[in-house]
Amino acid sequence: MYNTSYILACDKDHVYTALNRFDPKQNAFEGEYSLLHNTYSRDQYFLARFLIEHVAHPLVFLNSESDRYHEVIHNYGHFREDDISRYVQERVLQENEFEQTLTVQQSIGQLQLLIAKKMIEKELESVQNTPSSSERDTYVLLGKDWAFRWSVNTINDLVEQGRA
Ligand SMILES: [Zn+2]
Repeated sequence: MYNTSYILACDKDHVYTALNRFDPKQNAFEGEYSLLHNTYSRDQYFLARFLIEHVAHPLVFLNSESDRYHEVIHNYGHFREDDISRYVQERVLQENEFEQTLTVQQSIGQLQLLIAKKMIEKELESVQNTPSSSERDTYVLLGKDWAFRWSVNTINDLVEQGRA
């Protein structure tokens, strides 16, 4: 089923827009394909524009297993064909920018964790250097020691996961 491609055509204007394959996991169509970028728009930009421009027109939704599909692709105009590569290019640039922002944010998050770890390690050091004058003191210090060590280990795990 995932190998089936889809188009939506307007019989009044003799034009179609390609939705290409449907991904049941994402519940989305691949969208228009750019040969130049070898990728799909992966959004509904062209479909939405097509629907808006052909409102109340006789639209027909076809899959690649029908003869009509091939007939339409052969004979009808391709909706906004000249815009596809430019649009996909913009999408690719936006995605790269988003990924870069995400990487910067992750680095800042990691830095904050490492600063917190340094602060906790300082506290741990001072707990370890505090002499205990009673048994109760010893238990309190051991408790703090354990809690600080646990915090440091947890931060180490988080930083490790962030790097993965
Ligand atoms: Zn139309």
